Amino acid sequence: MADLVSHPDEVKVVSRRFGMGATNLDRYLEMDGYKAVQKALGMGAEAIVNEVKNSGLRGRGGAGFSTGLKWSFVPKQAPKPKYVLCNGDESEPGTCKDRLIFEHDPHAVIEGVIIAGLAVGSHTGYIYVRGEYRYLLDIMQKAIADAYARGFLGKNIFGSGCDFDIYWHGGAGAYEVGEESALMESLEGKRGIPRIRPPFPAVVGLWGGPTVINNAETLASVPHIILGGAEWYANLGPPKNGGTRLFCLSGHLKRPGVYELPMGYNLRKMIFEVAGGIPSGRALKAVVPGGSSTPVLKSDEIDIGMDFDSVAKAGSMLGSGGVVVLDETTCIVKFALRTMKFYQHESCGWCIPCREGTDWLKKTLIRFHSGGGVKKDIDNMYYLSENMLGRTFCPLGDAAAMPTMAFIKKFRQEFEDHLDGKPCPFEKAGAAVMV
Ligand code: SF4
Repeated sequence: MADLVSHPDEVKVVSRRFGMGATNLDRYLEMDGYKAVQKALGMGAEAIVNEVKNSGLRGRGGAGFSTGLKWSFVPKQAPKPKYVLCNGDESEPGTCKDRLIFEHDPHAVIEGVIIAGLAVGSHTGYIYVRGEYRYLLDIMQKAIADAYARGFLGKNIFGSGCDFDIYWHGGAGAYEVGEESALMESLEGKRGIPRIRPPFPAVVGLWGGPTVINNAETLASVPHIILGGAEWYANLGPPKNGGTRLFCLSGHLKRPGVYELPMGYNLRKMIFEVAGGIPSGRALKAVVPGGSSTPVLKSDEIDIGMDFDSVAKAGSMLGSGGVVVLDETTCIVKFALRTMKFYQHESCGWCIPCREGTDWLKKTLIRFHSGGGVKKDIDNMYYLSENMLGRTFCPLGDAAAMPTMAFIKKFRQEFEDHLDGKPCPFEKAGAAVMV
């Protein structure tokens, strides 16, 4: 079980039932549980889609696409059944928020899936939970069984005449399956690699039927929007970035943890006030703002609002909300190597720029960090990363290339300090290096 943290600046929406015993269905019902579904059953599909669209809710998995707009792409009439998939395959390094939702508020996810189903005319939902989150499967399984036992799932839910079924599914531990088309392949029992698109899932998805795929935090936000209203939710954040976000603050911090803050919250404040700043009086060196795939920000680039548009303007991405803080003792070359080891390991190997590029980058960084690098390696790594960008079937290639380019661009001197057989200056000083 993960420890819970809190701070007065938090605005608890998705996390409002964390630590309150909401895995118990009766407790959940005492805290407005399943009221949103009952309201949505009387709204009609178009009104639900519009409410979510107007709320400014954008995908919390990383892409930041408008949830309501995504739902509106699903055709009203379709020859095959439609599906709702909850993507709980949370695997981006630095990100650990969906697990808290499954652990503390599983019925909120179920409610979100049902409401998404009502919005797009689907009668079947799947909740896909990351394989490493084994203990969460038991929690989800029980929550689904309890909802069936009360008539909140199955035939004629809430006596409405509408049927809705939900199945949970555990992954097998592949980062790649967090990509939506790979997730569908995995659910169909195949190897979890992406599909060529178009067609997009909203038209041809799971089992060939129109499919909506949303992240767990996104879906858990939906019942609150239905109950509180689009205007309330939208006003929690800046324009076009409605609501709150579960930010996962990790790395060199006094009080790391998952905090729910309004979209647009200042990154510097997040680090130094909410998470207590850097331990041992050390200075901040850099911040990875949205999970390991997002370009690093230097310590003088963090006076920004943490919303999709502001972080993009600063040259990075809000991504999955995983804020990784690095202090002055961190060797950026070694951090880049650790990042690349992950992406090389997780590449499914389908496309050459990703399969060969991540391997080549990893090998070069290993050699480089251990003192065997030469000056042209720095430009070669940058050039290779640049040529991976946008040339792969899925975003994993970009996820590996973007951080590498930013590390080289912003910390070139640190790469040069490793040249010509020199030992890593950080390891030499005996500092704590993150690997
Ligand atoms: Fe596979 Fe990488 Fe290509 Fe994605 S980018 S399809 S992970 S090889």
